[in-house]
Amino acid sequence: MDRIKFIYWILVGLLLSFSTMSLVLGASETNHSWSYEGANNPERWGEISIEYETCSRGLFQSPIALASSNLIRDNGNIETHYQATPLVINNNGHTIQVNYQPGSYAMINGEKYELKQFHFHTPSEHTLNGQKSEMELHLVHQNEQGNIAVIGLFIKEGKPNPTLATIWENLSPREGIQEAKEQRIDASHFIDNHVTYFHYQGSLTTPPCSENVNWNVIQEPLEASRQQIEQFMNLYPMNARPIQEHNDRVVELIMINHSHK
Ligand SMILES: [Zn+2]
Repeated sequence: MDRIKFIYWILVGLLLSFSTMSLVLGASETNHSWSYEGANNPERWGEISIEYETCSRGLFQSPIALASSNLIRDNGNIETHYQATPLVINNNGHTIQVNYQPGSYAMINGEKYELKQFHFHTPSEHTLNGQKSEMELHLVHQNEQGNIAVIGLFIKEGKPNPTLATIWENLSPREGIQEAKEQRIDASHFIDNHVTYFHYQGSLTTPPCSENVNWNVIQEPLEASRQQIEQFMNLYPMNARPIQEHNDRVVELIMINHSHK
């Protein structure tokens, strides 16, 4: 009897960890039951499946409108410890995602979050002082308890971005995973030493819209060339969720001299 219980809990544990993993890595997102336009657009996500209910019922949803006048605090801290990783691209039908191998992490207010993947949206999902940028980059992290932290960066038109160049060169318009492991990319190139960032509690911006995501959106934008932005838009012309209700959440603007290696 005890043995059966034991096996049962092992199976439950495996199932839970697998579903969290696939949530973060987007491995289960091969179907197109949700979308950005048409019948299953973001206004309807909450009705598509009971698992997506939080998308319409949640009170801590993302993205939100950010403003430079947000409360300023100066004792927050982000340290990124990212290493180069072999290039593995997942064109998952919703975005272009680059999977990260274990060993790269961020310390966010002293807590360790492992970098799992990064991906792109166009236009930006968050707004800054009422404006959208051409694109937004999301670096998705997870801690040992399974909690998610995202570092977000606006991308505006400007100089060509060398890291994007490597990814775009190896990008196939076909959906699925593409490996170009002889190529290495390094997410630390996205993060500057002196930044201010907005911190708030929100959600995943795609179904199932799970809440309690620790959001850190950096105010200073990255640059990419018009051609690089258009290359992404040729595959995904619009993959941004609309702005969600603020619901009196505290949004802090944090100034740091952050370090990375
Ligand atoms: Zn995202």
